[in-house]
Amino acid sequence: MRITIRMDDITPDMDWAKFLRFKDLLDKHDIKPLIGVVPDNRDGKLALNPAREDFWSYVKELQDGGWTVAMHGLNHLYSTREPGLFPIGGKSEFAGLPLDKQDEMIREGKAVLEEKGIFTDIFMAPSHSFDKNTLTALKKNGFKVVTDGFGTEPFRSRGMVFYPISVSRGKSLKDNRDGLVTFVYHANTMDEKDFTKLAELLGSGKVVSYGEFLKMPVKDRNIFAAAKQYILAKGKYTIVRLRK
Ligand SMILES: [Zn+2]
Repeated sequence: MRITIRMDDITPDMDWAKFLRFKDLLDKHDIKPLIGVVPDNRDGKLALNPAREDFWSYVKELQDGGWTVAMHGLNHLYSTREPGLFPIGGKSEFAGLPLDKQDEMIREGKAVLEEKGIFTDIFMAPSHSFDKNTLTALKKNGFKVVTDGFGTEPFRSRGMVFYPISVSRGKSLKDNRDGLVTFVYHANTMDEKDFTKLAELLGSGKVVSYGEFLKMPVKDRNIFAAAKQYILAKGKYTIVRLRK
């Protein structure tokens, strides 16, 4: 199994020391990740440093340099407790809201990014939480791709293309089948041990740039596979909750 890297919670006021430490490791191995940029961050938990003035031109520079950019919600504020279609979290910025509200939020997020010169058709839902209305609103606003779901290859479902994330890093690393899966990172909350593990992973030669994922053929996924994924996600959420 090959691995791609996704970095969540990219904001002007994130923990820059940790972000840059992460980036240094990636650069050393010439790996370009997917980054989830919050268009208009209002989540105080993500605000760890003074906002970087040149944030948007910096993101543009990364994108021009081959990094893949996704829109990570709008404000990164959780307004509902709906887990949605991929229930590994128990809260959402989108799931459970009416379609016109979600449409407005997604349109606004896209407008903010485009005003800064950032164009993308990839969506990354805060807390992995989206529902049918989110997907409809995304399609209406020109989004084609969602970074979520379980699996080892991109798949088409409900009119969108999904690029899966790993259910279990340990299992993905031992899995010798063909395929590609995404490991999700939040640099803001990483500690020494996490950075050591990341360095080891990058040294393993299993990691490829996110762009490789986007080149893979997309398979159609039937309703049974969708149901299996839902159960797996629900199970993962329950396990995480029980551990807490
Ligand atoms: Zn997030």
